[in-house]
Formats: sequence, C-alpha cells, structure tokens
Amino acid sequence: MTQHQQEMTEITPTTRAIPVEQVRRWMQASAAWLALQESERLFPALVNSFVEIAPTLHAAILWLMTTGSLQPAKQAGLPLSKPLEEQWKQIKLRSGEGLAGLAWQRDTVIQQHGEHGYRELQGLASPQAQAIFQALSDLLPRSLTVTAAPLRAGNQFIGVLELISTDNNSREIELEDLEMITSIVAAAIRNAQLYDEIRRSHQRLKAFDAVVTSISTAADLPDLVQSVLTVVLELTPARSGALLIFDPAQERLQLSAYRNIAPTALSCFDQIPVDASPCAEVVRYGQPAIRPLLHERGEQTLIAAGITAAAYLPLLAGGTVTGVLALFGDLELTSNIDKDMLMPICNQVGFAIANVRLYEDSQRERRKLHTVVESIAEGVLLCDRHGRLTLANQAAHELLEQDNLSFETPLASIPDLYELRDLDGNPLTPDDLPFTRALRGDTFYDYRLMRRRADGSERFFSFTGAPAVNEQNEIEGAVITFRDITSNQKVQRAKDEFLAVAAHELRSPLAAVRSYADLLLRREQQREGDPRDIHGLTILTQQVAHMLRLVDNLLDVSRLDAGQFDLQYQQTNLVTLAQQVIDQQRPSAGNRELLIESETPELIVACDAVRIRQVLTNLLNNAIKYSPAESVISVRLRHTLLPASNSPAALISVSDQGPGIPPEERERVFQRYYRAPGKRAEGLGLGLYLSREIVQLHGGQIWIESREGQGSTFMVLLPIERLQR
Ligand code: ADP
Repeated sequence: MTQHQQEMTEITPTTRAIPVEQVRRWMQASAAWLALQESERLFPALVNSFVEIAPTLHAAILWLMTTGSLQPAKQAGLPLSKPLEEQWKQIKLRSGEGLAGLAWQRDTVIQQHGEHGYRELQGLASPQAQAIFQALSDLLPRSLTVTAAPLRAGNQFIGVLELISTDNNSREIELEDLEMITSIVAAAIRNAQLYDEIRRSHQRLKAFDAVVTSISTAADLPDLVQSVLTVVLELTPARSGALLIFDPAQERLQLSAYRNIAPTALSCFDQIPVDASPCAEVVRYGQPAIRPLLHERGEQTLIAAGITAAAYLPLLAGGTVTGVLALFGDLELTSNIDKDMLMPICNQVGFAIANVRLYEDSQRERRKLHTVVESIAEGVLLCDRHGRLTLANQAAHELLEQDNLSFETPLASIPDLYELRDLDGNPLTPDDLPFTRALRGDTFYDYRLMRRRADGSERFFSFTGAPAVNEQNEIEGAVITFRDITSNQKVQRAKDEFLAVAAHELRSPLAAVRSYADLLLRREQQREGDPRDIHGLTILTQQVAHMLRLVDNLLDVSRLDAGQFDLQYQQTNLVTLAQQVIDQQRPSAGNRELLIESETPELIVACDAVRIRQVLTNLLNNAIKYSPAESVISVRLRHTLLPASNSPAALISVSDQGPGIPPEERERVFQRYYRAPGKRAEGLGLGLYLSREIVQLHGGQIWIESREGQGSTFMVLLPIERLQR
C-alpha cells in the first residue's frame, strides 16, 4: 500500500447530469461502437472517443481478459515510443494487480487521485509491470486522477477501461454515466469478439474447404502435397514450410514438398531415421510440436536459413501418422499459429496420403495380376455377379477370335455371342453357358464345348469354372479358364472310331473263343482231368470274359455316340437284382465282406434291367478293385423322391472302405476314358462313363459322396416310373 492509496476516493453518486451536448456525443460514439464489428477497428475507436469527448481526459487504456489475466489491448493518449509500446503490450495483470486488476478483483469502479505520478497510483504489481508503470510515470504529468472501470457483458467479465485524467478533481464523467457508458463499451467489445470468433471459424471452414478442394483435384501424391502446402502457407503466418511423408517400412521421413525454403535447409529431415529428426516425437506420439528452433534438436540448417521457430503438425489417418507438416517462421509463429484450424486440415491430408498409398498399392497388385493373367496360355475370363465381363486376357481374345470382348453386355443374355455349342453342335441354352453355371455356384472341370465358326469349321474347348465368393460366402462373380482341345478332340474321335471298328471286329471271334473255352473247361472238370489243365482253362475263361466285357464297353460307347442305345424297360425288383449282382461278384471279392441292406424286400422300378445290372456290376466291381482286403462293401436300397418333381424314386448306394475320391476328381471320374492318376487297377476308364450315361438315360442321377481316406459311396437315383421324354 502506498500512502496515495489512502486518498482513494469513495465515489458518491451525485445527481449532476452530463451536459446535453456531451450526451449527444456519447450517444453518437456508442452508436458508432456498436456498428463496428472488427475488433481492430472497434478498439482504437473506443479509446479515441474517450480522449476526444472528455476534454480533461489525458489517456484511455483498454485492458482485456486473455487466458486468465488482463492485458493491454489498445490505448489513446499515452506518449509511448515504439519499444516502450512493445513492452507495455507484454504487461499481464493478475486479479488485484495495478488499478485495473483491483477493479477486476473488487468488481467496481475505482478512482485514484495523487500528486506523485502514474506509478504511485497503480498500487501493487509485478516488478516487470512496475518498471513499465514507472516509465509511463516519467512521461505523464505528476498530478493525475486514474479511474478503472470493470467491463461486463452480462455475467462475463471481459476487461477494464482505465481513464487517466490530468484534472485533479475530474468529474468529467459521473459514476452512473460511466457505468452506463462502460456497459455499452462492454457490449460493443463482446459483439466484436463474437464477430471475430465467427470470422475465425468462417476462415477455418474456408481454409478447410480450400484444402479439401486441392486434395480432391490433385492428380497424384506429389501434386497433392504441393498444393496442400501452398494453400496452408496462404492461411498461416508461417513464411515457409515443408511436407514430409513418413515411410513406416524404412522408418524415415521423406521430403515431399517445400516452399519458400532451400531444400538444403531441410536436410535435417530428409531420408534420416525418424528418431534422429527434429520431429521424432511428432511422428511417435502423433502430437503437434510448436516451439523455437534449437541447436540441440539438430535444427542448425534451419537456424542458418534465418528461421527461429517451427510448428510441426502430424498428418494423421485415424491413429496412424502418415507424415508431418512443418511450418517455419519467427518466434511469433509459436503464438500465432491456429492449431484448431490446422489439425482438421492435417487429418484430411493424412487420410489423403493413406488413400493414395492404398491406391498405389492396389494398382501395383493389379499390374502384377495383369502380368500373370496375361502370361497364362489358357483363356481367362472373369465376370461380376451380373455376368458382365470384368477381365479377359489376351489368350481369351485369341481363342474366341474376338478383337474386343464386350465388357458391357451380361454374357448370359446372349448365349450365342461366342457361338458356343455342345459337342453335338447344338446351341447352348443360357443356363448351360460356363458363366451361368459358375454363377449358380457350380465348380466344374473339363466342361467340353465347341465353337462353330462362320466357315463351318469347328473348334473344341475345355472349360474350367468356379464361382468367386466373398468373405460372407456370397457369389460375387465367376472365374472361367479354357483351352483349345480341338486337336485332342480330333484324335479322340479317330480313336473312338477305330475302337468301335476294332471292338466290332473282335467281338465275334472273342465270343467264339469264350464258348469253346467254357466248353473245354466244363469237360475237363467233369472228367476230372489234369489239375494244371483245369487251372489253365479257368484262367483262360476268366481273361476272355474280361476281354469281352471291355469290348462290350467299347461297343456301348460307339452305340451311345451313334444314338443307338435303346433301353428295354421292364418292371424290375432292384433288391433281387442287387442280390444277384452281389452273388455274381462274390468269387472275385476275395475275403471282402459284401452286404446288402434294404428297407423293403421289394423295390420295383421300371428300367432296362440289363443296363441297370451293368451299372451295379460296374460299381461293385470298382468297390472291390479299389478297396483293401477284408474290408466291407455295402449296397443299400431305399425309397425316396426325385428332387425336382417329388415323384417316387429308388436310391441305391454302393459304399466301400477304399481310399476315397478327392473332391476335384468326383466329376472327372465320370468322363470317358478317365482313370485317376496313381495306383492303377485294370480297366479302360469307361465303366463310370457308361454308368452315368445309362442312369441319365433313365432320367436318374449318379454322384459320389466320399471322404478322402474314408471310402467312397456311389449314389444312384432312379425314377420308379418310366419318365415320358
Ligand atoms: P476303370 O475302373 O476302368 O478305371 P471307371 O470309369 O470305372 O474306370 O472308374 C474311373 C476311375 O474312377 C478309376 O480309374 C478310379 O480311379 C476311380 N474310381 C472308381 N471307383 C472307385 C472307388 N470305388 N474308389 C476309388 N476310386 C474309384
């Protein structure tokens, strides 16, 4: 407390009114303040009005609350030199410090009067503030009255208006009038502050918009970072800047764009391990760092370039740092930089970088895939779930003899687009197109089709196809590969024709040999001849019988090809038939156990008994051939329904305990001459082919249920009634 504070005037309201002329001027000034929205125009207008309207007022100071303390915002009338003004602006008053701080603390107008200068009247303050008050004291008259009026807008304390008068008994503005005027001042200031806030957020939005636009119009990553940097520099007080991209694989920052700065000054960032760079913590913790430059942080090159402060802002994509935006300037940068504006921008840029990276990665993968697909000699076609082509390699174009395969039209809508036909030359229905099959969920191998060209020549193709499914197991498209098998097909045809002729020619002599061999064997057995002869004749009859079966199979194939495979329908008890086949096969089954299980003693089906016997013989024969000694083979029969029509059907299954058939073989084993690789029992690979043909001619189905290593089950489904075809 100084002695002068005791002279603090207890202001007693008087009834004296302001002269009419002054009222008019105050009203004019108030109207002008309220009309001024920008604080940089309002603040000077405010303080100037006071010294202009009140003749004895020497100076007016506007103190404003900023981050918990009062700071000078503007003054009129103080004869400050530039350097002193700079210092004066740095004063920070806490509650109770200086006259302004006292008015804040007491929340009332305080008036001090004294003869010993400005500093005496200010009371307690920090040494720094005291020093500046002293300097002001030296510039002002000794005899002064200082009034500090708190400014409140609603409940909010926003600052203090300090008025310095040279008239010792200043009653220029009465207390009540002052309160009224300061409340207008406070309202005008609050108004301007709100306006500033709106303007700032508007600027931020505009900045954000500018960055988003520059991101969305950028052609590639270098273009993107360059234009972002340009926009950001326009928006901030920074003089220069750089954009560094973080390479997580190398743990290095890479200088990707820079402006208004020599790249040599940026050598402390580029291509050095991130932990050794000045912005290590920004990359590690994803937090901005805004600080003066330091030698010990390795920022010499920047300091040498005349820079004193930097703002390092992380570019974030979610929680991942994709780079750093570095802005450079002088020390003011540390307080001027608008972090709230820049962080959303940095997030945008961070995501944009991550996206560009993802895009570039996917493009690389695409190119790789493209190279692989193009180098495949087979035709490769991909389609989407609507059957629209999405990829066709060169081989596909060449095989289908198309320069440009259509990527627009769903393939199924134009089955004859590529002139695909079945092997007999019939046009395909849309349902039978490889694409449609795969999109239905079918996986198929060696689906043979033919293309008839305009000149009538034919080309044969083998198609493999599968649906392409997503993680939810939904069909997203289909993959088809195919190759030209025309030459194979021709060889195959020639072979079939040759075999048909050979079989035809062989059958009669073989039949004769079998009759005589049987006759001879029976005779030798009856007369109990030499056991060695009997053994030899037994082998002869067995082998001839086997040869005859092979020849008969070949003849069946040629009959099928010629469409001469007629069925002789008759009511047949499948249970009896199966039992007969089992009994017949028993001698060749060795010590394998053959079982039959039937729901009913009778299972009557209209079928060609000879052909169905052939099918069952073949299945049982295979079961014996491909299963180990002492295993069990079972034949089961039961009633069931046909899946499509629900009409009654018979289901026969033949199960063995052999090696089983892997999934990819389950269709192939039904192909003509197909024999699984590996262990080979005798055979031509025709048994299952003929079995399927026979079953299908009856309107039935044959398929395999098998678990590898756990045996196979061949299922035969036959309609009970003869189907009208
Ligand atoms: P073949 O038996 O004359 O080779 P098939 O058409 O009867 O001809 O059979 C084709 C192929 O299917 C056989 O070569 C064999 O690999 C496989 N196969 C058939 N039946 C079975 C079975 N029960 N267990 C394992 N594999 C079998």
